[in-house]
Amino acid sequence: MIDLRSDTVTTPSAEMRAAAAEADVGDDVYGEDPSVNDLEARFADVVGTEAALFVPTGTMGNQIAARVHTERGQEAIVERESHIYKWEVGGLAQHADLQVRTVDGGDRGVITPGAVAAGYVEADAHRPGTGLVCLENTHNSRGGTAIAADRIDAACEAAHDRDVPVHLDGARLFNAGAALDVDVARLARAPDSVMCCLSKGLGAPVGSLLAGSEGFVASARRVRKLLGGGMRQAGIVAAPGLVALSNRDRLPADHENARRLAAGLDELAGLAAREPETNIVLVETNAPAEAFLEACEAAGVLGVPFGEHVVRFCTHLDVDREDVETAIARIEGR
Ligand SMILES: *Cc1c(COP(=O)(O)O)cnc(C)c1O
Repeated sequence: MIDLRSDTVTTPSAEMRAAAAEADVGDDVYGEDPSVNDLEARFADVVGTEAALFVPTGTMGNQIAARVHTERGQEAIVERESHIYKWEVGGLAQHADLQVRTVDGGDRGVITPGAVAAGYVEADAHRPGTGLVCLENTHNSRGGTAIAADRIDAACEAAHDRDVPVHLDGARLFNAGAALDVDVARLARAPDSVMCCLSKGLGAPVGSLLAGSEGFVASARRVRKLLGGGMRQAGIVAAPGLVALSNRDRLPADHENARRLAAGLDELAGLAAREPETNIVLVETNAPAEAFLEACEAAGVLGVPFGEHVVRFCTHLDVDREDVETAIARIEGR
């Protein structure tokens, strides 16, 4: 079976398993796990922030950020198709007591300064006030679009002009950096906090990081404990995370494979795929997505439905060029 459902399906490499087995550990709730401390420091260095916090999942990282940046009852401006709004069980309402205001980022999911201005609400006797703007890069549901630094900066400037902080959901920020050929620290410069997943294209078994200023991370550490995310000898999972960080140089290979997959599928009858920017391929299907995916599965390829007539295929560490060619042939012969 060629599993293209997500880049989260990768299993840890021998090097990661060895790193886990040999990790120096301690009680991370006491701040005494050297592997976690090392990973947090390395990550802060890579994204150019003062500090970082290791969290079990990207979802928890996003939710902690929302909680730290806001006050109960405020509004958060989010993109209509964003992960933090669509795929986190309504967490902004449940964990941070926020009301969301969706804005449409168009087919690439870019929040413009105009959208921030139009969505902004000033607090008064009747209105809650905007407490947060959330950005996403790459934008998953819009097809893994890599949003350029100047677009991120512009949205942040519009928010900061109104004293509103910005959180960047950078679950796949390293894919964005690779696609744009720009340092992730550049992409993370203007936002007040950034979350990145190690468990996606970088191939770690578990874990994400949430980064920002010292003060932000100190508050985030408390909220992580509140949510039950204070882990003890977490170095066992942080050590493979350190190996994962060094996997970022190979992301362009996933992007190349995604382009080949899209081009191959686009040539098949009843399918259309635009050229992907990163490792996510959205395919429009004449047949209903569910029926198409059943036929793919029977032929030995897995994907996920992303709309009634849209499916998502994702390239990752555990599929190589040959697998991509095989997947195209299997889908053609389904
Ligand atoms: C996967 C993902 C998350 C959440 O990460 P988990 O580790 O699965 O909780 C957040 N944002 C985006 C854009 C994602 O793709």
